[in-house]
Amino acid sequence: MAVLLLGEVTNGELNRDATAKAVSALKSLGDVTVLCAGASAQAAGEAAATIDGVAKVLVAEDALYGHRLAEPAAALLVGLADGFDHIAAPATTDAKNIMPRVAALLDAMVISDVSAVVDADTFERPVYAGNAIQTVKSKDAKKVLTIRTASFDAAGDGAAAPVEATAKADDPALSAWVADEVVESDRPELTSAGRVVSGGRGVGSKDDFALIEKLADKLGAAVGASRAAVDSGYAPNDYQVGQTGKVVAPELYVAIGISGAIQHLAGMKDSKVIVAINKDEEAPIFQIADYGLVGDLFATVPELTEKL
Ligand code: FAD
Repeated sequence: MAVLLLGEVTNGELNRDATAKAVSALKSLGDVTVLCAGASAQAAGEAAATIDGVAKVLVAEDALYGHRLAEPAAALLVGLADGFDHIAAPATTDAKNIMPRVAALLDAMVISDVSAVVDADTFERPVYAGNAIQTVKSKDAKKVLTIRTASFDAAGDGAAAPVEATAKADDPALSAWVADEVVESDRPELTSAGRVVSGGRGVGSKDDFALIEKLADKLGAAVGASRAAVDSGYAPNDYQVGQTGKVVAPELYVAIGISGAIQHLAGMKDSKVIVAINKDEEAPIFQIADYGLVGDLFATVPELTEKL
């Protein structure tokens, strides 16, 4: 059995955390070859080679892969698919765009958000906002998977695996990059941050969301939000944590003015330590919180920030 794993590469840099968690998930299936693609992917490839469990790294260095367009990335993966039984990627925003296309081109199903590998054909994944675990057995000749990184620990460092250049695939010429509008932030990236502070509808306004950001900055944390906070315009869309937002599993998750709806829990319940601040002691978030503070966030959050 052999696995081809698409490494998560952005601007020439490997997202080691996401890639190493996917390696952990997949290494029981056989030799894992990591593909790093991008305009300048060599350094990312060399970084991927040091992840324990990686047997080989392929580097496709070409401007065509510089902006993670799904069409050329999928063509590249499909072109390399011979000899691999599993084609996989961490379940990131990019991979959720690329892997269904790979599956369609291979006439296979995509098994998304894999949270456990049972055997070469059988995988577990959460359904119904994480309230049930589905076991999926696939008869496809090649399995196409996305890995729920929050369910796995990152593989450590290992001996450097060989790194080889690979030829690019023909450009399907179905899409072209126009521009990226990237929000610049000094804060850690939400899905890989060790600490996350999230605000909900209880925060009440965009201006007051600064309370959440100040606490996050004190803790060196990323900022998250509930969907209600995003929909109300208190926080940008890419802060959303939950079923239809990002899935996080930091060491520390602080939920402030968030009730704890199942769709929110689906995105954060694997966090190691959960702290909830809410003025309603009956709020469901307290059922999964390790530490709960019942109180008005406008009094408790500034006090906590100051004391820290
Ligand atoms: P509320 O439920 O309104 O809770 C606000 C909380 O703030 C309350 O508990 C209240 O007691 C507390 N509060 C108010 N004032 C204060 C104060 N001064 N001090 C302290 N506490 C205070 N939601 C997500 O978050 N992420 C998702 O990805 C997501 N996906 C969804 C997908 C679908 C298909 C559907 C149907 C829903 C989804 N939702 C998602 C929405 C979800 O169901 C909830 O509506 C949402 O999570 C509620 O957000 P909230 O907890 O911020 O707001």
